[in-house]
Amino acid sequence: MKPSSSTPTRPAPVLRLVTRLTLCGALACGAPPSAVQPPAPGVAPTPYVEAHTHFDNTDIAGSVRTALAALDRQHAAMILFQIPPDTFDHPGHYDAEDMLAEAAKYPGKLGVLGGGGTLNAMIMRAVATGDDGAEVRAQFKARAEQLLHDGAIGFGEMTAEHFNGVTPYQYAPADHPLYLLLADIAAEHGVPIDVHIEAVPEDMALPADLKSPPNAPELHANIAALERLLDHAPRAKIIWAHAGSDGTGYRTPALCRQLLRAHGNLYMEIKADPGAHGKNYPLVDGQLTPAWRALFIEFADRFIIGSDQHYPEPAAPIQRWQEVTTLLGQLPPDVRTKIGTTNVARIYGERIAAYLMPRPGA
Ligand SMILES: [Zn+2]
Repeated sequence: MKPSSSTPTRPAPVLRLVTRLTLCGALACGAPPSAVQPPAPGVAPTPYVEAHTHFDNTDIAGSVRTALAALDRQHAAMILFQIPPDTFDHPGHYDAEDMLAEAAKYPGKLGVLGGGGTLNAMIMRAVATGDDGAEVRAQFKARAEQLLHDGAIGFGEMTAEHFNGVTPYQYAPADHPLYLLLADIAAEHGVPIDVHIEAVPEDMALPADLKSPPNAPELHANIAALERLLDHAPRAKIIWAHAGSDGTGYRTPALCRQLLRAHGNLYMEIKADPGAHGKNYPLVDGQLTPAWRALFIEFADRFIIGSDQHYPEPAAPIQRWQEVTTLLGQLPPDVRTKIGTTNVARIYGERIAAYLMPRPGA
């Protein structure tokens, strides 16, 4: 990385946003952002926060360089990195420290959530051992507060039901005592919890298109437990990751609507993976389906974008961010603004809001 890149000069946050709007109008979109025009392929028509991405822990510098380069290309106002939910037993598990130190050089451009490699692993260990006693709880709380002290803007990526992939199959009750404790800590500090939960309304066999092992042959019902977590700490903002990327067939617009209506502290990230549609995919032939569109508009204050993009970008015909910005471009301008930036500012609060809120009339 060039020496100058560690001491970047940048305009004030609001100016940056306005500059990008102007750039979009002049170069990328070919029209002012308020005009109803189809965006250029793969370019968001409205500045938006990529609120759920991952990085290569063996190449922090390369990850940061490619993410910074992606900001203008994607018309992204900010990129938030998360840590894959992992176990202590899995070789290569890591957490946020290395990225926190590097991303701190780019306030308002990069943010980091932490805990996937440690808090999540502590929950998985507590599930396996049955020990969630006072000592374990104290260690868990200390670790969570250390991450916030070190600059993490939230806890993620956590999981309560995760199929085998980059990290192993994992299950924990969403209302496990350590999850309830994490919700208390999140509420106290005003930071969100980002959680990956494959939707399982009732106990069920593993879907036929997935293999066991490595996945569990039977899946535990988890929606009621998620609701108990939401009710336990109403001031804790819970972001249910990956709406639009469904591995069980039950993450439907109807289930999302039911939970969003019932729980004011529930938020969702939109993911649309062009390389793995899964079930209930929100796009058909590139067009947002009526059911998902209606949901995003009805709950325009509760969704954000979390494409699950990896930096550096993997070789792929279409990147995940391109698919999700195609989706974003099909929503009304006021809904795009909420989902793109305003909701993120509200969810994450003072740690990043100042960088995202446009001037009135801007
Ligand atoms: Zn995930």
